[in-house]
Amino acid sequence: MNFELSEEQKLMLEEVKRVCKEVIEPQSEKVEKEGFFPRKNLEILADMDLFGLIIPEEYGGLGMGFLTWAIIAEEISRACATTGLSFGANLLCVYPLMTFGNEEQKKKYLTQLAKKAIGAFALTEPEAGSDAGNVKTRAIKKNGKYYLTGRKIFITNGGEADIYIIIASTDPDRGPRGLSAFIVEKDYPGFSIGQHFDKMGFKGLPNAELVLDNCEVPEENLLAKEGRGFKIAMDTFAAGRIGVGIGALGVAERALEEAVRYSKERVQFGRPISSFQAIQHMLAEVATEIEAARLLLYKAAWLKDQGLPFEKFASMGKYYASEVAMKATVKAVQIFGGYGYTTDYPVERLLRQAKLFEIIEGTTEIQKNIIASRILKEYR
Ligand SMILES: Cc1cc2nc3c(=O)[nH]c(=O)nc-3n(C[C@H](O)[C@H](O)[C@H](O)COP(=O)(O)OP(=O)(O)OC[C@H]3O[C@@H](n4cnc5c(N)ncnc54)[C@H](O)[C@@H]3O)c2cc1C
Repeated sequence: MNFELSEEQKLMLEEVKRVCKEVIEPQSEKVEKEGFFPRKNLEILADMDLFGLIIPEEYGGLGMGFLTWAIIAEEISRACATTGLSFGANLLCVYPLMTFGNEEQKKKYLTQLAKKAIGAFALTEPEAGSDAGNVKTRAIKKNGKYYLTGRKIFITNGGEADIYIIIASTDPDRGPRGLSAFIVEKDYPGFSIGQHFDKMGFKGLPNAELVLDNCEVPEENLLAKEGRGFKIAMDTFAAGRIGVGIGALGVAERALEEAVRYSKERVQFGRPISSFQAIQHMLAEVATEIEAARLLLYKAAWLKDQGLPFEKFASMGKYYASEVAMKATVKAVQIFGGYGYTTDYPVERLLRQAKLFEIIEGTTEIQKNIIASRILKEYR
């Protein structure tokens, strides 16, 4: 077992840390307070070729693995969670194309996503959240085209993305087995953006409703074949959970960092509050749990890179890291005392952001269902 990063990973991380420190992190408070999409940050990451991190070299990417992606995304999320989550949502478009796309689709779309194009993945609908197979959006084939009609809600990067993977039903009688996945470009006729959701946190993260009104999609934009949509979505979410867990980890790390720094500066009873054991214990617990969350997520990413079953670890990592992010941010607010409850310091923002990780890409309850179903099979 080797925990050391490769030279290539170290160099990449060093460069990402520099950019985060100089450009991305200083913007993070403004992004949340003013609620704007940090497109510039994404452009910087794209210019560093990081959009193509896991995309094979033949399609213009760097051809690296999930573990490298995780190490880099962790740093981005620590610096600015909004940038991190938008960067992570790109993966949800890249991954199904890489895994299920045919040669022509990969050539056409992965090459764009490896450069500057922003991607998104749309499954959720008003009646299909945890019950992901209950998609009502309909895709009807006519004269060499599919026509998609329905509504998608809560779509990350919605309105900013260039390329969307959209799950729709080609055969409603077959339920989840009748779902299919489509590659949809933002300019296709019948595609538009509806409501933008006003959220508790992540005020700068694009999150929108997609309106599909007989949206015209060329036949060749069907991913894999009809009826594979549910499998594509489940596989994409499994891999994407590494990304969501990593986002939570970044938030937890930032909260710990802020709490440590503040505890050394804040003086009460004539001494820094970091000298009180009660404060030290909070820091110790959070630091330990962050390490444990990181190990789970890195293990999931490593397994994925080895082509080994990783899904259970991805669910464990996502579930655990999002709980750690909640704990880390609650404790950080506690350590900041009254100031922590104000918007003058970043910890209240981190607390609002942390909550999201327990909900997206399968709630904590759904992760526990997945983990339980695996261990019930493993231990007979
Ligand atoms: C900011 C944001 C970004 C998002 N980005 C995307 C995106 O890019 N693409 C996309 O497709 N979706 C996206 N989503 C949707 C997200 O994945 C769903 O909100 C999530 O899966 C939960 O679905 P739901 O909101 O319908 O909750 P529900 O499914 O209604 O769940 C409500 C409660 O019931 C519990 N519950 C439901 N079923 C069970 C069960 N079987 N066992 C135990 N408990 C259960 C849940 O855990 C939860 O506590 C996003 C959501 C948000 C808020």
